[in-house]
Amino acid sequence: MLDKKNFPVLRNNPRLIYLDSASTTLKPDLVIAAEAEFLTKNGANPHTDAFENALLASEMIESTRKTIANFIGVENVQEIVFTTGATMSINQITHGLKHLIQPGDEILVTDLEHAANLLPWIVLAKETGALIKTLSLNPQTMGIDLFKLKRSITDKTKIVTFAHATNTIGYLNDVGLISLEIKQINPNVIICVDAAQSIGHTEVKIDQWAIDFLAFSAHKIYGPFGIGVLWGKMKLLKQMPPLIYGGGMSSYIAEDYSGYELTAVPHKFEAGTPNLSAIQSFQKAVQWVSEIGMNKIQTYEQELKTYAIAQINKLNLAKKITFYNLNNHAPILTFNVNGWNAQDVANYLDVKHNIAVRTGEHCARLTGKMFAKNSIRASFGIYTTKSDIDLLLNALTKEDEFLDVFFT
Ligand code: PMP
Repeated sequence: MLDKKNFPVLRNNPRLIYLDSASTTLKPDLVIAAEAEFLTKNGANPHTDAFENALLASEMIESTRKTIANFIGVENVQEIVFTTGATMSINQITHGLKHLIQPGDEILVTDLEHAANLLPWIVLAKETGALIKTLSLNPQTMGIDLFKLKRSITDKTKIVTFAHATNTIGYLNDVGLISLEIKQINPNVIICVDAAQSIGHTEVKIDQWAIDFLAFSAHKIYGPFGIGVLWGKMKLLKQMPPLIYGGGMSSYIAEDYSGYELTAVPHKFEAGTPNLSAIQSFQKAVQWVSEIGMNKIQTYEQELKTYAIAQINKLNLAKKITFYNLNNHAPILTFNVNGWNAQDVANYLDVKHNIAVRTGEHCARLTGKMFAKNSIRASFGIYTTKSDIDLLLNALTKEDEFLDVFFT
């Protein structure tokens, strides 16, 4: 869809076949330039109007906040909190909700959550006496089972948390439908959505969903590292204590140290010097993706998956390779070559063909409960081409070469 020449990593490594976009998307020139632009043309710490660059830095943060709010369908811009990424966003949510959780309250999670959307909830449950329960996945699609969902929600359900799309199978959950069903059964349930995997591949429109929290990272949508978003309903954000305390988030500290007052949401969650250059390039990434059009990106990536499936059938690969997600259009191919260790296959792909894929549990530590403990994941972005897919699939047909890597 987009020429690889727009992406310096690919331009500088013309032989690299990068199939690890679910881990992080490569950044186009204009995103990198936006990051450098802040450092070379502004460079100031915000939170003062004492001089122009500081004022401009503060304005840039708020203008990025607006861009993000608009992008994900949030009306109240102040509900957008900058964090270091999805991981911190979810940790802020669990920390912030602690005082609302009673022993015996139930927190529902799926078995394909990334550790970032699992561990913080387990810790919260341990700290509060809440119980973690399974939100069942449909064994075929590995998306949330809509029939079982109804039975899982009870008066005791306090929180339901799940990925919009998982980072292993990629099934796109219908958040609108799921959130409505949950709220119809128990309107008090707090719904948290991990959009880390979906944000760069499909539209996220919070105003069409009945959810309370959303988390994602900029680096999964062609943006920079070290910056992400926590969106929450203002009513809940106001009640939540920050995870981190420091500069820029207090309006008063008593001289005898006996008390303090915090600034309003979102700034009370943004202690310390912000990652300004990343915030600037995050805005550029989102503006750029919006210009291309999320629907166009999704259609293109679906075409890639359709092509991959057709080639897999043509090459009769299912005989030797177990694929786990050929029944969806997610930009991810997850598989194992029968009889081969996933890591060995990945090393072969890397060393012999310059193909970068990821192996293991992909930080979703319970994949063994659903499909396989270890697997190989090839994931696409807007720079992925049909030729990349051909190279991967052809390399996988050469089983006799898999071991060469270890003897050369
Ligand atoms: N959730 C999912 C589904 C993910 O794929 C990831 C990143 N691999 C995360 C959360 C965590 O994102 P980050 O490491 O950027 O905080």
